[in-house]
Amino acid sequence: MLGSEYTHPRDEILQVMERIYRYRMTTTSGGNISVREPGGDLWITPARVDKGSLRREDIVLVGADGSVEGRHRPSSEFPLHAAVYAARPDYTAVVHAHPAALVAFSMAQQVPDTKLFHQARHVCGTAGFAKYELPGSEQLGRTVAAVFESGRDCVILQNHGVITGAADLAQAFHRFETLEFTARILIKARLLDRPEFLSESDLALADGAATSLPHFQQPAPSTAEKEVRRTLCDFVRRAYRQRLFISTQGSFSARLDEASFLITPYAVDRGLISPEDVVLVRDGAAESGKHASRAAHLHDAIYRAHPRTAAVINAYPVNATAFSVTRQTLDSRTIPESYVVLREVGRAPFGVQFQEPEEIVRMISGDRPSILLENDGVLVTGSSVLDAFDRLEVLESTAEAIINARAIGPLSNLPAGVIEELDRVFLGKG
Ligand SMILES: [Zn+2]
Repeated sequence: MLGSEYTHPRDEILQVMERIYRYRMTTTSGGNISVREPGGDLWITPARVDKGSLRREDIVLVGADGSVEGRHRPSSEFPLHAAVYAARPDYTAVVHAHPAALVAFSMAQQVPDTKLFHQARHVCGTAGFAKYELPGSEQLGRTVAAVFESGRDCVILQNHGVITGAADLAQAFHRFETLEFTARILIKARLLDRPEFLSESDLALADGAATSLPHFQQPAPSTAEKEVRRTLCDFVRRAYRQRLFISTQGSFSARLDEASFLITPYAVDRGLISPEDVVLVRDGAAESGKHASRAAHLHDAIYRAHPRTAAVINAYPVNATAFSVTRQTLDSRTIPESYVVLREVGRAPFGVQFQEPEEIVRMISGDRPSILLENDGVLVTGSSVLDAFDRLEVLESTAEAIINARAIGPLSNLPAGVIEELDRVFLGKG
C-alpha cells in the first residue's frame, strides 16, 4: 500500500505528492495534501514550494491549538482542509489538486458520472459539486464542507479543481486518481460517441461477482515460479507507469504450467506490487492467505481452454477503454503494426465476464486475441508476458490514433488488397 501504519505522515504525504506530480495530475504550484492525527494536529504541504522537489522537512505541522511548526508557512488552502475535517470526523486525509480532466469538468460545471465503471462507483461513490469561491478563503472551506457533510467523498470545485477525503491517505489518493481517470475516459468517449453508463442492476451484478476461489496450502515455490513472479511484477509496475493500469484497477496473470498460473492480488496498489503479493492459482484454487484478483475465474477459464495462451491482462488504458464505454468498434486496419498485432478486436456485453466467462473464452482466438469489455476496460491475451503487454500497448496507441485522427478529418483504413498482403506476409495466410 501507499504508506502503512508504520509510515510517518511526512513520508506518506511525500509519496502521494510525488505520484500526483510524476503522473501530471498537478502542476508544481497547485495541489495540497494533509493528514490529521487523532488528537487534531494536522500535517500539510507547504505554501509556495516546488512540488517536483518537495522534501520531508518541508511538510508543516499545524497543531490543534493553531501553533505552526516548520520551515515554511502551511498551504494557503489550510482553511479548506480544516473545514473539511470539521465536517467529517471520519477523515484522516484530504487531497486537493487541479488535474486537467477534472478541471475540464469543473469549468463545464459538471461532475463525472462514476456509474461509467463498477470500480469507479465503488472507490469514489457519487461525486459532489461546490460552487466557485475565492481560493484560500474561509468561505471556500464552508461551501465545500457542506457538500462533504452531505456524504460525498469527492467534490468538484467549480472553475478550480477537485478535493477528496478518506479514512486514510491511500484511499483519499485512490479516490482522486480513480475520479481523474474516469474523467479522462469520459472526455475521450465523448469525442467518439455518446458514453453508456451502468444501471443499478449492472452495478449489483458486479458486486455479487466477487466470489473468492477455494484455497490450498502452497509448498515452497520453485525457482521457475520465483522467476515468473518477478517478471509479472516488473510488468505490472511498468503498466502502472505507462498509465495502462491505475492503482486500483487492472489484473495481470502469467501461466506457470499446464495446471497453474500466477495473478495479481485483489486490492493491492498496482504501482507498488512485489513478488510476494502475487497469488498462485492451481487447479482452480488460490494459495492460502492471499486474495486473488477478481478476474481470476475468467483467467482460469482462458488458460484451460487455450493451451498456447501464456499471459492474460485486464486493463483500463484511457483511449481503448473509451471505446468500451461507447458503441464504437475498434477497427485495427489503421497501420500495418496495429493490424498484425491486434487482428480483430472483439467486444463483450457488460456482465458476460461474471455470468458466462465461457462466452468470452469462446470469443478469444489467434485471430481475435483481445476483447473490449463493455464498461470494464479491455482483456488482452498473449503467448508470453511481453507479447500480451506489447499487444496492450498497441491496442491503446491504436485507439488514441483513431480518436485523434477523427479530430483531423475523415479516417481512411488500409484497403482490402493491403490487408490480404499483410495476411500473406506476416500471418502466413492464403
Ligand atoms: Zn486549488
